[in-house]
Amino acid sequence: MCSIIGYLGDISATKILVSGLKRMEYRGYDSAGVATFADSQIRVKKGVGRVEQVNISTNLQTLPGNIGIGHTRWATHGGVNETNAHPHLSSSGQIAIVHNGIIDNYKELKEILQNRKYFFKSETDSEIIANLLQYHYDTTKDIRLSIIKTVNELKGDYSFVAVFPDGTLGAARFHEPLIVGVGKNGYFISSDVLGFIEHADDVIYPDNGEIVIVNFNGIELFDFTGMPVRHQITKISKEFADAYKGDYAHFTLKEIFEQPLTVLRAGENTRKELESFANAIKDAKQLYITGSGTSYNAALVAKHLFLKYGKKKIETIISSEARFYPDYFDKQSVLIALSQSGESADVIEAVKIAKNNGSSIFSIINSMTSSLAQISSISVGLNCGPEIGVAATKSFTSQLSVIYKIADMICDTQIEFDLQKISSSMNKVLGSHLEIQKVARDIKHASDIYIIGRGIHYPIALEAALKLKELTYIHAEGLPGGELKHGPLALMDSNSFVIAVNPNDSTYMDTLTSAREIKARGAKIIGISDIPSDVYNYWIEIPKTNESSYPFVEIIPIQILAYYAALEKDTDPDYPRNLAKSVTVK
Ligand code: GLU
Repeated sequence: MCSIIGYLGDISATKILVSGLKRMEYRGYDSAGVATFADSQIRVKKGVGRVEQVNISTNLQTLPGNIGIGHTRWATHGGVNETNAHPHLSSSGQIAIVHNGIIDNYKELKEILQNRKYFFKSETDSEIIANLLQYHYDTTKDIRLSIIKTVNELKGDYSFVAVFPDGTLGAARFHEPLIVGVGKNGYFISSDVLGFIEHADDVIYPDNGEIVIVNFNGIELFDFTGMPVRHQITKISKEFADAYKGDYAHFTLKEIFEQPLTVLRAGENTRKELESFANAIKDAKQLYITGSGTSYNAALVAKHLFLKYGKKKIETIISSEARFYPDYFDKQSVLIALSQSGESADVIEAVKIAKNNGSSIFSIINSMTSSLAQISSISVGLNCGPEIGVAATKSFTSQLSVIYKIADMICDTQIEFDLQKISSSMNKVLGSHLEIQKVARDIKHASDIYIIGRGIHYPIALEAALKLKELTYIHAEGLPGGELKHGPLALMDSNSFVIAVNPNDSTYMDTLTSAREIKARGAKIIGISDIPSDVYNYWIEIPKTNESSYPFVEIIPIQILAYYAALEKDTDPDYPRNLAKSVTVK
């Protein structure tokens, strides 16, 4: 869960690597580093912190050469320190690597290589790749063979890029992303198109289990047995132009404000896929839906809609829990997988378990070139453009948009939702962002925030809690209002803030009663509703809409609240501590 990048071409490598790493920093950002090759020598600079910090503290830009590799880390093995930061050199210093993922058998391999007098400096699993490549290179003197032998010994999930003693770049992909860019100034190998968006329009997507070799003679692709493979060169989608902050202070703010547009774009251009998707799940004997984090909350909304409007039962499964329930899945079941990136390791694992048991897989994804898209029978795209802010915002409402469209196709009772109207209601709420900012000033000292909602608003309360945790680091908990008296009411006192997700629908009176009970215990109530009430210490107004459309609208003020509270607390809303966007490790 990090970013890797390699460049070989006719301009200075560090400039390209540093700007590419900054663009991919959302993927992991506890440390960063670059290695370049010049005058038959590999030089490495790395350190702890964000790319710009490391760039300044180590003067990355002074590294010479037109060939290099770079990394931003999200530590899995070994603490966050300079030694564990990537790139890692082989013990002779002739080969350098950057790695994304986890090598499961690194301890066994390390012991074998130590006995052969290869030494290790870091606590990482990744360093094994450098020494294993070096060992095979020492014995074969052949770059191609040394990569093939190495990947056949590694166990785990990985993508890596290595620089060899003659400046050749070698990379491999196994259950982690790897993309090749071809531009007029050279070749790029990266975890994400964003790594080279400014420099290349043409792109190759290697498959899982493939190797890429790049040098000044050109590019070569082959599989783990050494068989050459061919790939189409495709054009990078224009949507990636959205990967700029523009006039917004943060990506998160930009992405929150894009939602009136992105809910309309969700599932667009894929009407045929939407229909086949809906038809396939309509007749499913058993229906499951899985996701992690925000995607799981969207799955809970789907559960509600399918049952309420279609009398269709759908079991929700938190992706990381799926491995404990393999017997859920058989040939007659259908699993719907939700993931923004399509690379989330937990989601992919859940999907593999279901697939191995013969189930059909359908997915709803933002990145249509992702691993999840490749292993699904049908995928529908969110179409919301790159989401860089680590906390999901626009991808959530786009997931809702696609889910509503599919639910509407399979449910007997028509779901009342008009995306145009939803979009303009979202615009209205966004227009009151400065009012919400005032509330953010007051919640910044809160130690706990509880969010209550009932029925379809309960998943929104969960999503609200997740946003507040991620962006403000304040403890936040989403609850069905009715559960208060079964425990959580004991926690309420004058230091607590409670957000009541309380639109004027069938849940209104019950939630208002819960809010009253809480207020009687001294807690402060923030009401999100289309009608005011004396119960609320703060009222955040949302436009009146029909019952099923509220979820789209009521999440917006909470996203804004979490964003401004993060600013009040002086935390970076785009890059919350300890997290990363595309969680490609288990
Ligand atoms: N497992 C490696 C480490 O801890 C790579 C982690 C990553 O993907 O950033 O260094």
